[in-house]
Amino acid sequence: MANYLHTINGETWFKEEVTGAIGHALRVDNVLFEGEIDHQHIVVFENEIFGRLFALNGFIQLSTADEFIYHEMVTHVPLFAHGAPKRVLVIGGGDGGAIREVLRHQNVEHVNLVEIEADVVDFAKKWFPTVCQDAFDDPRVTVTITDGAKFVQETAETYDVVIVDSTDPVGPGEVLFTEEFYAGCKRVLNQGGIMVTQCGLPFLQPEELKKAADNQKAAFKNVRFYAITVPAYSGGVMTLGYATDSDETPETSTELGAQIKASDLSFKYYNANVHRAAFQLPEYVAKIVH
Ligand code: SAM
Repeated sequence: MANYLHTINGETWFKEEVTGAIGHALRVDNVLFEGEIDHQHIVVFENEIFGRLFALNGFIQLSTADEFIYHEMVTHVPLFAHGAPKRVLVIGGGDGGAIREVLRHQNVEHVNLVEIEADVVDFAKKWFPTVCQDAFDDPRVTVTITDGAKFVQETAETYDVVIVDSTDPVGPGEVLFTEEFYAGCKRVLNQGGIMVTQCGLPFLQPEELKKAADNQKAAFKNVRFYAITVPAYSGGVMTLGYATDSDETPETSTELGAQIKASDLSFKYYNANVHRAAFQLPEYVAKIVH
């Protein structure tokens, strides 16, 4: 079995190796579960600062302390940019954090969560109730356990927004960064639809971002990227891809603030200024994606 837990001076530490040369370590105060599930290895543990976390194949997926940053930004940016999303597809995202945020939008009528790993959904319900809350019980939600890449090639359903809340391009997540997959996402999008994707840490994983950018540009007319900073993902900013065939750029619209206000939703990270500013990329990131 893969070994991500190490004993140093009598303490247990979880080590995440983002590259062969850099490993981030978090002190493990309590291990709740460690083992192999269908497609991946999972560790669920607690840390004094980050709260409860889980890692798949050695990569941290979320911490209960800062998950609001990623989940608000992966959902509200495309949902408010779209303006009137009714049907939303979330690929990956088995922890339920993304669908929790999507469901806060009153105009959303249906959310399909397509996750390859049934255990992640079960683990979320058991170990991460603050993340999924009651999202899995919402009548608007369907959970489909299958490969997201296969799903977008085969389904007859269509969506206004597709959110790719995936692992990094290693193991089962690799296919979610290919041109074929992005073309599949485009196939299931209604006119004016938007796809948002998790694209990793550009400082440590520039090739992965470049590949995702090239592949998204091959499938969509307008591809942009926005940046967020999530402390549990050490290594600087994380980029999210934003792809659409629409010519509109709602993030620059002056109506965005009014639209957010009218929704009556409140946030811990997201607001209209953050939405717009996130698309302003540091030069080293802009050079990778342009
Ligand atoms: N926020 C996280 C991050 O940025 O690292 C992503 C977390 S989410 C739990 C990622 C999910 O994608 C995992 O539960 C994993 O099982 C799922 N996944 C990986 N490959 C997949 C595939 N091909 N189809 C559907 N889900 C997949």
